[in-house]
Amino acid sequence: MDEKVMIGDYLGTIEEFMPGTGTFAEDGKIYAAKIGFKRVDPENHTAEVHGKELAGIKLDQIVFGEVMNVKNSNVTLVVSKIQGNPGLIDERTCIYVSNIADTYVKNPEEMFAIGDIVKAKVIKMGDGLIDVSTKGDLGVVKAFCKKCREPMALSQKKEGMLECKCCKSLEKRKIAKDYGRVSDF
Ligand SMILES: [Zn+2]
Repeated sequence: MDEKVMIGDYLGTIEEFMPGTGTFAEDGKIYAAKIGFKRVDPENHTAEVHGKELAGIKLDQIVFGEVMNVKNSNVTLVVSKIQGNPGLIDERTCIYVSNIADTYVKNPEEMFAIGDIVKAKVIKMGDGLIDVSTKGDLGVVKAFCKKCREPMALSQKKEGMLECKCCKSLEKRKIAKDYGRVSDF
């Protein structure tokens, strides 16, 4: 089984290997330039990263995943399920800020928090990289309070906001139309 690597993972030095496909060299060291599988061949002195299989994910599919990271330009989502498919997967995907909502989003941190469960659509597939979108009815289907980590419900008091069932704190998200009604989560 080939070892899975992420972008920026160290593969070896340029004295040991020729930096091949899917890699880049910096200060004499070779790193993975994409997510994939490490192919280091000591006999031919080559280091390469090959794209991985995308676990059956297809364009336009609806997927569910957990928010792992929120940055100014994008949100990292680890997809664990494809809608209509009972199997579990583990795919790192990305929601670019322009793909969050139909309207302009200035700050993704106002739309997502780490740990949120998100319903999204696969809009682009590259070499081991998947872009997903939460435009339209898609978005967060389950969220947890930033203060006490308890699950949040749609607020009855303030439309378009979530309310913590425990501490009653109100939070904003890019809320999916079927928030709280996705049975798998
Ligand atoms: Zn709370």
